[in-house]
Amino acid sequence: MRTPRIEVDLGKILYNTRQVVQQLKPYGIGVTAVTKAVCGHPDIARAMLDGGAVGLADARIENLERLKHAGISCPLTLIRTPMPSEVSRVIQACDTSYNTELDTIYLLAQSARQAGRVHDIVLMVEMGDLREGIMPGDLQQIVREVMTISGVQLKGIAANFACLNATGPDAAAMAMFSELARHMGQDLAQNRGRNSSGTSKDVAGIFPEIVSGGNSTSLPGFVSFPCEAAQIQPEAVNDLRLGEAILLGVQPLTGAAIKGLFTDAFTLVAEIIEHKVKPIIWTGPVMPRITAQDRPDNGVIPGAGQRRQSILALGYQDTDIRGLTLPSGNRLVGATSDHLVMESDSKTLVVGAEIPLRPNYSALMRAMAAGQIHKVTKNRKPDVAKFHYS
Ligand SMILES: *Cc1c(COP(=O)(O)O)cnc(C)c1O
Repeated sequence: MRTPRIEVDLGKILYNTRQVVQQLKPYGIGVTAVTKAVCGHPDIARAMLDGGAVGLADARIENLERLKHAGISCPLTLIRTPMPSEVSRVIQACDTSYNTELDTIYLLAQSARQAGRVHDIVLMVEMGDLREGIMPGDLQQIVREVMTISGVQLKGIAANFACLNATGPDAAAMAMFSELARHMGQDLAQNRGRNSSGTSKDVAGIFPEIVSGGNSTSLPGFVSFPCEAAQIQPEAVNDLRLGEAILLGVQPLTGAAIKGLFTDAFTLVAEIIEHKVKPIIWTGPVMPRITAQDRPDNGVIPGAGQRRQSILALGYQDTDIRGLTLPSGNRLVGATSDHLVMESDSKTLVVGAEIPLRPNYSALMRAMAAGQIHKVTKNRKPDVAKFHYS
């Protein structure tokens, strides 16, 4: 097999999706799976759908187009406010987009009318992360205006947490978000002259069809995985947008593993191109002489001031090197655009050996986007009954 490559265990992704879907079901919350960290890879997206995700979302239109062209027919949502220059592609590729700018909504509406379509709008509201979002005080006016624009249909409201700032969702924020959702729902109902815009959620009050309560950082607040108590009443929320929790099985804020989920669905495999004992500090043109028997492969322990080091054919051009976990017994020395230098305790490493590396979110995202890293999927039809984790 070619290296470098990223190996993707589709069965583990399916399993993780199924676990969170089942945990959220009792609360009336569906899962929209977010594919941006895997660049809209169709096989991975299908595993998420097989696991019970009700739709797919991505921040980039190219990734949504990739899903659509692969024949995936579930609802597709653009979760980044569209660029004005891409509105016609948005209309073609997806059913719904998240929006924070009225001017862009007008452009979407115009493009939708030209295409003979109606495009669905979800308004993202600012809840403290201070990245994208309509300020809560401006929401009602925008809601009322969007309802008058033909070519678009206001479908719901969304909140986002802990992307730019490490502000996780708390009970107060969720209560405020629920209130905003309730107000939007009432406006929508009045606008339609009937009682409900069709939420399936059995709660008091009128809510929009989509009330999306955040990303993976919202998950621990809603569900009680074995070790964690649910802290936040979901109230109006009927959707979460989950990427990292499903793909990597961790909580984004802390990096802690979520009990019951696989954290090893992705393995980045790189190849050793050099393996030598070298001085830790370069002291000038006179190098310590290393004889044939002293070669690391022969089991010699490096002397004082030396280390056994391997170069992997992988660098910053491929991934976020700092986001990789090396196999135990290996330590990162440093990296450049095309070389990763690691110090190894092992005496058995040789040139040509493959080294498995575990990527975090940032490393995964960049590896999936890197053209020279091969993407290899496996375990397409897993026997889920046989899954177990420790
Ligand atoms: C990336 C993103 C998500 C998914 O985030 P995860 O932490 O991977 O679950 C959800 N919503 C928005 C708006 C995003 O940009």
